[in-house]
Amino acid sequence: MLGCRQALIISIKDEHREGRAVDIEALANQYSSKTPEDILRLALESFDNVAISFSGAEDVVLVDMASRIQPDVRVFSLDTGRLHPETYRFLDRVRERYPIRFEALSPDAMAVERLVREKGLFSFYQDGHQECCGIRKVGPLRRRLQSLDAWVTGQRKDQSLATRATIAVVERDAAFSTPEHALVKFNPLANWTAAEVWDYIRSNDVPYNELHERGFVSIGCEPCTRAILPYQQEREGRWWWEDAADKECGLHKANVAVRRR
Ligand code: SF4
Repeated sequence: MLGCRQALIISIKDEHREGRAVDIEALANQYSSKTPEDILRLALESFDNVAISFSGAEDVVLVDMASRIQPDVRVFSLDTGRLHPETYRFLDRVRERYPIRFEALSPDAMAVERLVREKGLFSFYQDGHQECCGIRKVGPLRRRLQSLDAWVTGQRKDQSLATRATIAVVERDAAFSTPEHALVKFNPLANWTAAEVWDYIRSNDVPYNELHERGFVSIGCEPCTRAILPYQQEREGRWWWEDAADKECGLHKANVAVRRR
């Protein structure tokens, strides 16, 4: 006899294969208080065409958890060309430590050349980060997501009251789904706090980015990330010259849209 989880997985696979919409809201309710491992297992077992997005920061816990469920899980990272050397070293340590299928996604070279030719290397300090993030992050991500049915992110509610407080553990990706291609986004760590993430890292001897030892919490590109002070919200170290409600790079821009409604 099938257990509940197996029956659910079979029904999601059937719905997906037959082109019927998966009831994401019901799934989100059903899994809202499950553990990150349970949510991750559901993502990896329900969708054959799924990958984890790894930023090079503390969401490495997802890679560690997933590699115990599916050792050759697909993991991708956005190599913007502007990451800290420490982050590049860390990505390589993770790639060596786990038997994952790791991809570093590069931006379109001509688009980067055009931006730098027209506006220089630090235009984001003058006219905001959206254009540069659009080229270096959103473009490569959109290309990759077009070939996936689901992806897994390390987003957590406690990362930002302004943009992440209401994220669900599983949602339809409002930013990257199209009428022809429904994309599901899993956020297994949505309900975890930073303290729980770090308990996991320490208890399981998970590798971490050495920048965390120097006051960096949320880590992105080198020119757009700085260390924060005690009790600051962790995303205050990102694009610190901009309004808190705009601090999404386009990867999760539906968070900003929801906030503005
Ligand atoms: S975080 Fe900064 S450097 Fe990186 S892609 Fe965005 S604007 Fe460009």
